[in-house]
Amino acid sequence: MRISKLFGKTQREIPAEADTLSHQLLIKAGMISQVAAGIYSYLPLAWRVLKKIENIIRDEMDKAGGQELMMPVLQPLELWQETGRDLAFGKGLFTLSDRKERKLALGPTHEEVITELVRYNVQSYRDLPLLLYQIQTKFRDEPRPRAGLMRVREFTMKDLYSFDTDEDGLTQSYARMLQAYRNIYDRCGLPTLLVEADSGAIGGKDSHEFMVIAENGEDEIIYCLSCQYAANADKAESIISKIEGEEPLPLEEVDTPGMATIEQVANFLKVPQSKTLKAVFYVADGELVFVVIRGDLEVNEVKLKNVLQCYELRLATETEVIEAGIVAGSASPVGISGIKVIADNSITSGANFIAGANKPDTHFKNANYPRDFKADIMADIARACGGDGCPKCNGKLSSSHGIEVGHVFKLGTFISERLGAFFIDASGNSHPIVMGSYGIGLGRLLAAAIEQNHDDKGIIWPLPIVPYHIYLCPLYMENPQVATTAENLYAEFEAQGLEVLFDDRKESPGVKFNDADLLGIPIRVTISPRTLETNSVEIKWRSEKESQLVPLEEITARLKELIRAAS
Ligand code: ATP
Ligand code: MG
Repeated sequence: MRISKLFGKTQREIPAEADTLSHQLLIKAGMISQVAAGIYSYLPLAWRVLKKIENIIRDEMDKAGGQELMMPVLQPLELWQETGRDLAFGKGLFTLSDRKERKLALGPTHEEVITELVRYNVQSYRDLPLLLYQIQTKFRDEPRPRAGLMRVREFTMKDLYSFDTDEDGLTQSYARMLQAYRNIYDRCGLPTLLVEADSGAIGGKDSHEFMVIAENGEDEIIYCLSCQYAANADKAESIISKIEGEEPLPLEEVDTPGMATIEQVANFLKVPQSKTLKAVFYVADGELVFVVIRGDLEVNEVKLKNVLQCYELRLATETEVIEAGIVAGSASPVGISGIKVIADNSITSGANFIAGANKPDTHFKNANYPRDFKADIMADIARACGGDGCPKCNGKLSSSHGIEVGHVFKLGTFISERLGAFFIDASGNSHPIVMGSYGIGLGRLLAAAIEQNHDDKGIIWPLPIVPYHIYLCPLYMENPQVATTAENLYAEFEAQGLEVLFDDRKESPGVKFNDADLLGIPIRVTISPRTLETNSVEIKWRSEKESQLVPLEEITARLKELIRAAS
């Protein structure tokens, strides 16, 4: 490809909202262009990378025994209502009406459609197991599209679904997919960590995510260096410090003038925050709920949502709290009624807590559960933190940020039961088909590959997913010998099937080198009057500083060998 003809120019200016590195580099390299929030066009260079990623994924899915098919993006909303997942996806589901006023959804995932398909095509245990997949556009009305291709509203996903006769079969399919995923990330130059995950709106029990550790990753990962435990912070459990051996003392009121936050109250009364109880108010599907947790901990909203089994959860506004007759800043469940109280297990890890007295500027000393208050639900709803104890061993937990580049779920039978996808076993009995679901977002994988492979000059593509292998870089194109040699080499490289980007522009060496580095093409081949003095060209790897001269007559063979060896 000639750069003079390439659609998509490198940019010097980047939009202010591009605050993540991969987003900035994708814009600078002229690879993507925003159409609306979370909606992008992929220009030719990005499209080539996406196609390579797609081929790697397809190859690994096929090797694992997957069969590729294609399902529609448009799905009847009724199907989603049958499984109840229209409510679970909530506003994330893009919906529309057709001319006959029938409701449709744009597929954010395809469990419903594929289960219907399998229902009609599978009758007997002999038809199972099955691994079916597609690589297709998904739509999700994300509340906060961000970070370029990381979180968008329209994206390509590989989604595979497994169908087995029993749990053992599912376990095997799951293991097979985990291995295929590892192969994919290896080939894309991405070290990943497998972590336990919450299954969110997809549903099901066991679920894992593949995480790329990255400073500006959106997810928080909690892991133990002493054992194998690793989980998304949405799901992670931990052992918190326990304050033991204290006898419960009588409940007592204390004045706390102007003290409203946990920090203020703890400082004022000279106690650690772990000696206080924190009240947090949420609205769960329209109902105000009272959450109480030890003062040094934070509420994990994903755990809380799962415990409440609600579809929508948000923090209550100040007005909502006041309207419910609650004294914000001095609230506690002591003496409160008419509101659902959800307590974190941590309130039993300690005694004689400071808690709000439900009147202004006043707190209680020595509040104890269950002596002084009750909870409607007691559960683990705390956010695990680095420094907490590991729930699996005696180790200490650490935390890092990560990018979720893949997510796999053991769905079990809840979707097949609701949609009536059953099979007949060898004895003639009917059972629901046991399902799994496995997704990878291609654009996010591309962005994560850039986050992992770059320097201050630009992208350094892992070889298997580069847009082109070679950057043919003639300097001083006005020199006829340089121009002719470059044209001849370009023709020869193309004829030999090498993937080459030819910088045929009459730009300065500085501009050309900068663009070569920015685009991250692995091998730069430079031709200049100086290299031609010895009938040679200079080759340099993007990731290395040193270059070397190679005689003109050897260059094609040498490049082929280098690419073959590095692939
Ligand atoms: P997240 O937790 O990041 O919202 P999810 O768990 O809802 O993602 P899945 O349904 O598990 O996503 O989707 C499978 C894969 O699709 C994810 O691992 C990710 O690679 C990709 N993906 C999901 N949502 C988006 C998005 N909005 N933009 C880009 N890629 C996405
Ligand atoms: Mg996920």
